[in-house]
Amino acid sequence: MQRFASASRVFTLARRSYATPPSPSALVLIEHKDDKIVPASLNAITAARKLGGTVTGLVVGEEASTKAVVEGAQKLGLDALLHRTSPALAHALAEPLAPVLAALVKSGNYTHLAAAHSAQGKNIFPRVAGILGVQQISDVMAIESPDTFVRPIYAGNAIATVKSSDSIKIFTVRSASWDAAVSGEEQAAWVSEELTKSERPDLGSAQAVVSGGRGVKSKESFDSIIFPLADALGAAVGASRAAVDSGYADNSQQVGQTGKVVAPSLYVAVGISGALQHLAGMKDSKTIVAINKDPDAPIFQVADHGLVADLFEAVPELTKKVEEAKK
Ligand SMILES: Cc1cc2nc3c(=O)[nH]c(=O)nc-3n(C[C@H](O)[C@H](O)[C@H](O)COP(=O)(O)OP(=O)(O)OC[C@H]3O[C@@H](n4cnc5c(N)ncnc54)[C@H](O)[C@@H]3O)c2cc1C
Repeated sequence: MQRFASASRVFTLARRSYATPPSPSALVLIEHKDDKIVPASLNAITAARKLGGTVTGLVVGEEASTKAVVEGAQKLGLDALLHRTSPALAHALAEPLAPVLAALVKSGNYTHLAAAHSAQGKNIFPRVAGILGVQQISDVMAIESPDTFVRPIYAGNAIATVKSSDSIKIFTVRSASWDAAVSGEEQAAWVSEELTKSERPDLGSAQAVVSGGRGVKSKESFDSIIFPLADALGAAVGASRAAVDSGYADNSQQVGQTGKVVAPSLYVAVGISGALQHLAGMKDSKTIVAINKDPDAPIFQVADHGLVADLFEAVPELTKKVEEAKK
């Protein structure tokens, strides 16, 4: 049996003293994993603030696993924070969560419902839109006004500006297009050694990404060639779909149209041809470096720095040089 109502709690923070919230009034689903807020949700909060009205955060899940998340979310300067707990919501499955979200949006008179354009957002939000009988707006890059949104189409080759006449706007946010919402306390905590010690940065929010493609040829060489360069650069590890399909890398590492969209300061593409669907996920990176033995590979058309070379020689050499330069 689901115990949504009895387990529901509401925290009201800061400036919320209205009987009826002013329009626009946005509800943002705060995604979490391993007791932490998923970084892409912080970008979604920034996007919701752009609407110009109130922003309410929503944390759902099991009581125990959401405690730290709620504490983190309370520091984000939201107008209000809803915390809904139920064992049924433990894994954020779309089936139990979508009706809860739809009911919350209606009962709270929210004008907007936002989340990251993550696997979770993409899974849950179309279902909420279906329940509410409105259209979903996916992968929002910019907001021109509370009803006008900018989003990519045709794998990022065209940018569409769409105006929604729905009473409730449901949208997912492209994290690479928005800054993360931060709290002062979190900025101070960011320097902690825990973060720099061992774990690689999160692909979606990393400042540098090293990605390997089919040219890397095996999982063994992916591990022994791509990971050391990423570690030397303090970078996250990405992959092309061909590398993922061949089992060299995990699904969660795929960059591209059907993977993650990233825009780090540095993107290093190793043994990746540069297919349109891959470019859709990384072409907004500030500096793109490509290493490929084929001088005609399309990746060189978007690369700021290109090296025509055998990756099996060039990448270990580059890794060594980066390590030496750090000394
Ligand atoms: C609907 C749809 C969605 C898709 N979504 C995605 C997506 O999200 N992300 C994605 O990446 N792809 C996606 N694809 C697949 C995409 O079209 C390409 O097939 C894929 O990106 C190719 O991956 P790749 O560059 O690693 O492999 P390849 O195209 O095979 O390129 C391998 C490259 O490695 C180079 N190389 C080989 N050996 C060496 C060596 N020793 N040294 C240096 N270079 C070497 C080759 O010159 C070549 O350029 C999608 C396709 C479709 C149809």
